[in-house]
Amino acid sequence: MAGEPQADCLFCKIAAGEVPATVVRETDTTIAFRDINPQAPTHVLVIPKAHHPDAAALAAEAPQVAADVLREAGEVAAQEEVAPPPGGAGGPRTGYRVIFNTGAGAGQTVFHAHAHVLGGRGLEWPPG
Ligand code: 5GP
Ligand code: ZN
Repeated sequence: MAGEPQADCLFCKIAAGEVPATVVRETDTTIAFRDINPQAPTHVLVIPKAHHPDAAALAAEAPQVAADVLREAGEVAAQEEVAPPPGGAGGPRTGYRVIFNTGAGAGQTVFHAHAHVLGGRGLEWPPG
């Protein structure tokens, strides 16, 4: 059933506390922890505690939790002091990016929905 823990899923194990992670925020439905291979000074993953294979499945199966993940991505950015000032302006190192890699061809390697929150350095646009 959608949302049930998967025995072979790394992020289900992190959500259950069975694999250690550097947790920066936690709510009833989400957990945010530092990426083990950071690509920016701030690189935090926000996951639903329940198992959904990717962001589209999460949005379809548990839309309120998808909203929780997005809200928490913003809270992580604020906590890490990479959020831009109100209105979105700011210097070259303010602002952050939220990414959901979806599908192996787009770089997804862990098939439990997760938002990457990246910030603290210049972020080129369009991305490579
Ligand atoms: P994806 O490539 O699926 O979009 O993102 C998976 C992310 O999980 C990668 O950025 C990778 O560095 C991270 N990751 C993989 N294994 C671990 C782990 O055991 N702990 C943590 N904290 N991050 C992990
Ligand atoms: Zn999982």
